[in-house]
Amino acid sequence: MQKNNILYVVVPCYNEEEVLEQTTKVLTKKMKEMIEKKIISEKSKIMYVNDGSKDKTWQLIEEYNKKNPFICGLKLSRNRGHQNALLAGLMTAKKYADMVVSMDADLQDDIDVLDDFVDAYNDGNEIVYGVRSSRKKDTFFKRNTAQLYYKIMKKMGVDIVYNHADYRLMSKRALEELENYQEVNLFLRGIVPLIGFKTTTVEYERKERFAGVSKYPLKKMLNFAMEGILSFSVTPLRMITITGLLIAFISFLFLIYVVIGHFLNGNVAGWTTIVTLVSFFGGFQIFCIGIIGEYLGKIYMETKKRPRYIIEQELTEHEKN
Ligand code: UDP
Ligand code: MG
Repeated sequence: MQKNNILYVVVPCYNEEEVLEQTTKVLTKKMKEMIEKKIISEKSKIMYVNDGSKDKTWQLIEEYNKKNPFICGLKLSRNRGHQNALLAGLMTAKKYADMVVSMDADLQDDIDVLDDFVDAYNDGNEIVYGVRSSRKKDTFFKRNTAQLYYKIMKKMGVDIVYNHADYRLMSKRALEELENYQEVNLFLRGIVPLIGFKTTTVEYERKERFAGVSKYPLKKMLNFAMEGILSFSVTPLRMITITGLLIAFISFLFLIYVVIGHFLNGNVAGWTTIVTLVSFFGGFQIFCIGIIGEYLGKIYMETKKRPRYIIEQELTEHEKN
């Protein structure tokens, strides 16, 4: 495969004014090094996607765009969340690039493995997954919940790459295929493995955020985790069916027991039994309806076929390759 391909690094940014300067400095230096080593083309760029930030993020991007030839920007019309912002960036970058890497603005992902990403691309890989070598830096809670989550996902038949977030390289070709996945409930790390092609993984150590606070509070994280399961698996529905069958069977045994008891010692089923049963089944049914409702909600959203993002403005005329 030919070397010196155009690399675009897509970085979604939501209220990242505290980190943008440092990130720009570090990334620009890295790009220059890679261009000097002739690993990537000099037409390569860093694309910041402003996801409706409320702070000075977009002003900073505009400013960097003017003085730094590597920086280009994309502004979404409002906050659409990390996954949508990322998709907007990927779909825009693929028009100009041969390969696109996605990463967070806080530089938690080790940018020195970019060389390995590009090497793997030159070896013919269409997708290269960045995989965290350890979770030492995470809190006890995050480490354990994350690990449990991967296990549950696997059990439910969702094919995700273990310890991989959204730090990955995708070729133009893989991105063109990604475009055909039209779902609104975006869970990219679940969709990307569905594309297939030749892929590989590259290990790296994930650092702590160097400034600012996480834009993924617990509530958003839980939502994201649910999204991953409900958008990719119908196993919860299957589990309801099985549980329902099981409970029906147990009630049947209970019925026999009550009937026999009635004939042997004239027992009439007590108030307690009835109340217990009624409340148990009441709760159980609501729970089932709730889960079915979740899926219904998804169908509802998908049928709307709303655009997943709207680009308000794009900076820099890119050179088409
Ligand atoms: N982000 C975004 N839109 C959002 C929330 C987050 O574009 O609504 C971006 C954020 O700017 C960062 C990336 O997504 O570049 C990951 O967020 P963060 O680092 O806060 O998440 P964490 O690393 O804590 O999981
Ligand atoms: Mg982060």
